Amino acid sequence: MSDANVLVVEDEENILEALRYSLEREGYAVHTAVDGEEGLNLARQHSPDLIILDVMLPKMDGFELCRILRSETEVPIIMLTARGEEIDRIVGLEMGADDYVTKPFSTREFMVRIRNMLRRSRHSANAQSTSASGDNIVAGDLEVNLASRVVRRAGAAVEMKPREFDLLALLVKNAGRAFSRDQILQQLWGHDYYGDSRTVDVHVRWLREKIELDPSKPRRLVTVRGVGYRFDG
Ligand code: CA
Repeated sequence: MSDANVLVVEDEENILEALRYSLEREGYAVHTAVDGEEGLNLARQHSPDLIILDVMLPKMDGFELCRILRSETEVPIIMLTARGEEIDRIVGLEMGADDYVTKPFSTREFMVRIRNMLRRSRHSANAQSTSASGDNIVAGDLEVNLASRVVRRAGAAVEMKPREFDLLALLVKNAGRAFSRDQILQQLWGHDYYGDSRTVDVHVRWLREKIELDPSKPRRLVTVRGVGYRFDG
């Protein structure tokens, strides 16, 4: 069924075992670590297809581990945060996590999210390796290739995480149209996502760093007051 390999880093044994059980039942190969250092070693050793990372971990916390992993790999990372720790979600996303799940969580919903995330990251990997042509959208010195998922600015490739690219693609395909944060959340994260609209703001900020001349005075990806965001070209 699935040959994906998932690493879970979590020091709470009952959560760790519940995740291992559910993931194995879905057909994934599972590696587990109970502290940040072991997590980093296993991630380097096994090159997992997806990593689930608790925030509060012995030896090295989940944020630090996420930051290191992100500098080494594009692997999708889901962070686990305790209920109500809003700040954790934002910091986690800042450190490069792709998603977060609040404890306690529904295992079934979590498995759906994992499946979707793995599917998405495989799509982007395939697209990058096979397609050299396809829809190319050019806006000024910015070039967005929807098929190969390659973004160039003044001819130079711009590194994008899958979600950043999805957001950029949505906006450039619909240049001039304003999207609300909720519309963007639904398009990118799906209807079943219990998201926080600030997730969108964080991704917009990252994109601006990459495509704006002056990210503090955006001219391309502009804020539509009281609504959300719009791509102006
Ligand atoms: Ca913990």
